[in-house]
Amino acid sequence: MPSTLYRDAALADGRSAHLQVGVSLLAEDGRVRWIRPADDEGECPPGCEVVDAGGSTIIPGLVDGHSHLTLPGGSHWIARGSDPTDTLIAVAESNGELQHRSGVRWARDVGSPRRAYDGGERAVSIGVRDRWRGRRDRPYVRAAGTWITVAGTLPAGLTVEARDGDALVAAALGQLDDGADFVKLYLDGPDPETSPWTAAEVGRVVQAVHARGAKVTAHASRLSGTRVCAEAGLDSIEHGFEIDADVARLMAARGVALVTTMTVMKSWLTFATTTSIPRFAEPDGRSRILDRLEQARHSARLAHAAGVAIVGGTDFGGGSARANQLPWEFECLVEAGLEPWQALAAITWRGGELLGEPEAGVIREAAPPTSPSCTATR
Ligand SMILES: [Zn+2]
Repeated sequence: MPSTLYRDAALADGRSAHLQVGVSLLAEDGRVRWIRPADDEGECPPGCEVVDAGGSTIIPGLVDGHSHLTLPGGSHWIARGSDPTDTLIAVAESNGELQHRSGVRWARDVGSPRRAYDGGERAVSIGVRDRWRGRRDRPYVRAAGTWITVAGTLPAGLTVEARDGDALVAAALGQLDDGADFVKLYLDGPDPETSPWTAAEVGRVVQAVHARGAKVTAHASRLSGTRVCAEAGLDSIEHGFEIDADVARLMAARGVALVTTMTVMKSWLTFATTTSIPRFAEPDGRSRILDRLEQARHSARLAHAAGVAIVGGTDFGGGSARANQLPWEFECLVEAGLEPWQALAAITWRGGELLGEPEAGVIREAAPPTSPSCTATR
């Protein structure tokens, strides 16, 4: 069995500010066999490759809390959602490879177009998840299916649209019937000041989806929709760029996690020089994005201070970052005021907790290799 010994590294697990130094780690068959002091390693297995890891830091496998595997991103990211199904699947393969090579072991997919393929109709991300099961060169995927919107929000045909509260519940359960692991609502509507759904309507979805053993999250970038999500007791809120102190307190009290995606705004700032799209390139547009970034940092700070669990995501594909840029969100979280170990938690085990996957984003010594629960570096 091939084994590799990483000798004399530092180790950060995202559980405390303590950085362990002088650590050696033996990896065997893709798992952590043991973690020991570098000056007391004991025997190395015969044929073991030794890597001098001095000056390196070992961290858990990363969890991208907000990704769109089937979409390529870039400044025309919404238009790319209308690409042919084969293209979406090919894009996902490329994104999965980028994630794997950049240390992302778990991808939480929060929306992909719904298409006919493989003999049925469902979100393309669900098929991608199933294709990648058991592949070591791809992340583990948990997929929300497709976005559920009120009409007039995103381009027609891209999402499942609901007209009223009954249709909203039916659309949510329909995603679970399709094979989604959790449900994603869209709580930005055509009018930014008004939530497209009431807390009572969203609460019915929460009840119905929880009854099926799954979780519910929602895209909510505006304060109006974010407040409704908090009142309805969703499991998490995506983006949350306009959280105020009241909503932060409510989220903490009801156990609603925040999935931050500040990377999006940073990538939009680069479009000021790489595109001629007015909302990015003109001075007004640029200053609006800068204001929004500052507001997003403030929101993350308030939520964190109130005790809300913070999970970090790139929003690659749905926004404009790329699949191997999760460290960008780590930097954003530190800029927002989290300690570096807390920001590491946000892109590792906090994402695992939100997914309900206790092994995700965790680094630990494996059980004996004969045990079926012997898994680490996940
Ligand atoms: Zn997104």
